[in-house]
Amino acid sequence: MADSSGPSLPPPRLTLLNPGPVMTDERVRAALSYPDVCHREDEAAALMNAVRAKVTRLCEGTERHTSVLLTGSGTAALEAAFASIVPPEGKILILDNGNYGQRLQRIVDVHGVRHERLEFGWTVPFDLARIDEVLAGNPGFTHVGMVHHETSTGMLNPLREVGEIAERHGCELAVDAISSLGAEEFGLESHGVDWCVGTANKCLEGFPGMSFVCASHAAFERLADRSPATLYLDLYGHYAAQDKANAPLFTPAVQILYAFDRALDLALAEGTAGRAKRYGRLAEALRTGLRERGLRFLLPEEHMCRAVTNVHVPDGFTYTSLHDALKAEGFVIYACQDRLPDVFRVATMGRLDETDIDEFLSALDRVLGEGAR
Ligand SMILES: *Cc1c(COP(=O)(O)O)cnc(C)c1O
Repeated sequence: MADSSGPSLPPPRLTLLNPGPVMTDERVRAALSYPDVCHREDEAAALMNAVRAKVTRLCEGTERHTSVLLTGSGTAALEAAFASIVPPEGKILILDNGNYGQRLQRIVDVHGVRHERLEFGWTVPFDLARIDEVLAGNPGFTHVGMVHHETSTGMLNPLREVGEIAERHGCELAVDAISSLGAEEFGLESHGVDWCVGTANKCLEGFPGMSFVCASHAAFERLADRSPATLYLDLYGHYAAQDKANAPLFTPAVQILYAFDRALDLALAEGTAGRAKRYGRLAEALRTGLRERGLRFLLPEEHMCRAVTNVHVPDGFTYTSLHDALKAEGFVIYACQDRLPDVFRVATMGRLDETDIDEFLSALDRVLGEGAR
């Protein structure tokens, strides 16, 4: 039994190779110890506005665009967006090739949003011709929803191409960019994205607890007359509060926001291209090491995102035995959700460098050596 009379012990020091929450920079962590703050004072309003502007910049928004912050993990912002953006007479086509595509479908289903799901299967790339055909054959669609980087399989989906198809059919495109933003090429205008959903704690290297929706003012304004789908995650309500009244609708996770502000400064200074390069170098070092050790990847390399590598569990191990042995060495790997029980994930996102990858590969050697005995 855990002792409940005193504070919990600090967690062990581990290198996180799970796809978020990620390792953070010490400057981001230091922001958590700022003085206490009231969320309805000027300093909190200034903070929210600064973070919103930085998020919009990161999404390559123009002066037409703005961002709305939500307190909650990425799914909170997904639910706020996907429950709100489709009008009652509209319909959304959900593109699904993994766990997070399925989550989009579950959100619209829970909220009674009219939708159809185009399911390709896990690890199967989008069939662009099929998307075009479905939209052409059904004039009722007003929106298309998709995941940019399908974190469950590590597949990067063709955003720009879907953006072009959606535009051709007069549909708005809503994107879960939660695990791509900050490390994969992304632009609201350049990729034809109308609604972008992101979170603080993946490639933006902040803490879990804040997420956001970025879109044009005009798109937010179109939601004004709809009845909200939920009280807490009322997207237009949050937009109106943050953009017009200059005050949060409810109490935001202010401390997490201060840390996110620092994380955004670092992300903007490194730039998406710079971060893509860094993650790419880490992924290359990792994949070379894994290949040399005879491990096999789930996806052909051309479909892999630079932030996540999915690997078949080696012979003689289960996911759990491999995970536990690596954790004892100081590294956290991640499971691949129920559908792929014999696959593990190693993320190359967050504050990591080549030494971390080298040390991970050495730890893996020790674990594989033990396992073979
Ligand atoms: C992490 C993630 C989410 C959100 O998960 P939360 O646990 O709510 O943060 C959604 N979509 C994708 C693609 C993700 O990688």
